[in-house]
This record gives sequence, structure tokens and C-alpha cells, in this order.
Amino acid sequence: MSEQTGQVYISVIIPSFNEADSLPHLVKEITDVMTEKKYSYEIIIVNDGSTDNSRKFLDNLSASDKKCKVLHFRRNSGQTAAMMAGIDYSKGEIIIPIDADLQNDPADIPVLIDKLNEGYDVCSGWRKNRKDNPLIRTLPSKIANYIIQLISGVKLNDYGCTLKAYRREIMQDIRLYGEMHRFIPIYASWNGAKVTQVQVNHRPRQYGKSKYGLKRTVKVILDLVVVKFIQAYFQRPIYVFGGFGLLSFGLSFLTFIGMLYFKYFGGKSFIQTPLPLVTILFLLIGIISVFMGLLAQINMMTYYESQDRKSYQIAYTRNME
Ligand code: UDP
Ligand code: MG
Repeated sequence: MSEQTGQVYISVIIPSFNEADSLPHLVKEITDVMTEKKYSYEIIIVNDGSTDNSRKFLDNLSASDKKCKVLHFRRNSGQTAAMMAGIDYSKGEIIIPIDADLQNDPADIPVLIDKLNEGYDVCSGWRKNRKDNPLIRTLPSKIANYIIQLISGVKLNDYGCTLKAYRREIMQDIRLYGEMHRFIPIYASWNGAKVTQVQVNHRPRQYGKSKYGLKRTVKVILDLVVVKFIQAYFQRPIYVFGGFGLLSFGLSFLTFIGMLYFKYFGGKSFIQTPLPLVTILFLLIGIISVFMGLLAQINMMTYYESQDRKSYQIAYTRNME
């Protein structure tokens, strides 16, 4: 609770990369909503190494409005790292990340907060009428959402929507890498949090350019593999590796039987076609790459976490005491 009003303190977090034209409008929209609702709040804008006028604008803003706090990164580190930094520095009991480009509508913030007040720990925005390129963004994202739903067992329609509301407690122990900010509700739900979603407004981009394309969907799917693996790995690594090993032994036993069968009853040796070899080769390469990748991932996390390293570097901050 904040000391002055006894109200829940809200941290709005804005990861921002080259959004100088949008930021003034966004900050005004958020401030209007927050004052109208009489929330006690802070707005944390994370300047993710922008090369436009963002820095100047943000430094002026933070000088004139103490509720606007600013983190300047040394270099561009990505939306997830920016969000993580904002969360690390935030003080609110409720955390609300929002895009800097005005595509999310601050008018939805009270709706999310009301949901948390109903007793949920996470409320995710759902951009039902998404205003992005259908072919390279909306469709791949629909497919990705379906896969994520299947693998994670957490039913949301739009994991990728930045606008969400979290109770601070559920963010404890969550470290984010790559494109993983969208998986916070999944981690939270696995840890027993109550998760829900509401439809939110989505607006076309007015200023600046989108920073993403099709590549992001691929990254998201790979991150999902990591998240799922980590969940299993931290419980019992031997089940993951061992289970896979057993499966592999089983398969090789089957092919062995097949080999004998063909030799003695089919009259055809495997050497007559190269296909089985190629298939097995690719299968093996695939399996090995995935597992090597997962091990590398774990190594990377150990590296960052054991030394308490961050996935971002702050150049300087404003209004963060
Ligand atoms: N963003 C960021 N760092 C990056 C890329 C993007 O902080 O390296 C921010 C960006 O400024 C915006 C949000 O992440 O506030 C979402 O990016 P964008 O609007 O380009 O994504 P889209 O809406 O097209 O999915
Ligand atoms: Mg956008």
C-alpha cells in the first residue's frame, strides 16, 4: 500500500526502442487514466538504446514529472530485457507492462486492475482485433498461440500481448531471457497463480516502425521449448534425458528387428536405398542440436544467475532513488 492514499501502488512499465514520436502521447494517456482513477502509480520508461530523440524527451519528462522514472540502457538489449529491467526497478504491488508505440490502449489498464481485484494474480490482454500485418504477424502469432497453449497447458488466446497485469508476488524468482516475457503467465500458472484474460483494444501503429517480423515467431517457439524443458529439467533432469534415451533404445531395437526381418524374410537389404540412413542422420542431428541447445541455455542461465549478472546494462537512471 502506498503511504499517502492507502491505495495499491501500480507500476506501469514501458519498454521503448526508438518510439520518440509516440512516447509523449502515451505518457499523457497513461497519466490521464491514472489520475482519473486516482491510482497511486509510477511510470517506468525503459529506453532500450534508442537512437532517436527519446533520451532528450525522457530526461526532460523525468525532470518535470517525478512519477515518470527512466532507465537508459547502454545499448539495445531487446524488449524482454527492457521489461525485466523495468520490473527489477519497480516498486508497485501491481505491475503493468505496456507497449510504447500506442498500439495498446491505456484505457484498458483499469479493466486489468479490476480483474486482479477480483482475486486473480495475472490478467492478460487479448488483442481480439489485432491491427498488424495479417500475413507476417497475426497469422503466425495465431499458430504460435495454439502451440503454446498445447505445450504449456495454460489457456490464453494471446500470449504476445504486452499489456498484462501481474501481482508482484508472482514475479518473484522469474528471470526472463530471449522472447520470454510472454511466458510469465505460464510460469506463474505453473507456480499456482490464478490466471485470466480480458479483451483489450489494439490500435494500428501511428508513428515509427515495428521492430519485428516473421523471425520472432520462430524465436518464440524455440523459447517455449526452453521454458518447457526447464520446468521438467529442474524437477528431475534424469527423467528428461533418461526418458529420451530409453525411447531411443526402444526405437533402435525396433529397427534392429526390422533389419533382421528384411534380411531373412523380405529379401531386401537396407543398402539398396540410402533413405533410411539419411532419415536417421537428420533425426540424430536434430535431436543432438536440440539437447545441445538446451544445455547451452542452462549454462547461460547459470552464468548470469550465479554471478547475478543482468541481461541488460544501465547507462543511467532518472527519479530512481
Ligand atoms: N521494443 C524494445 N526493444 C526492442 C524492440 C522493441 O523495447 O529491441 C519495444 C518497442 O519499442 C515497443 C514494444 O517493444 O514498445 C513492441 O515492439 P513493436 O511495436 O515493434 O512490436 P509489435 O507491436 O510489432 O509486435
Ligand atoms: Mg507494436
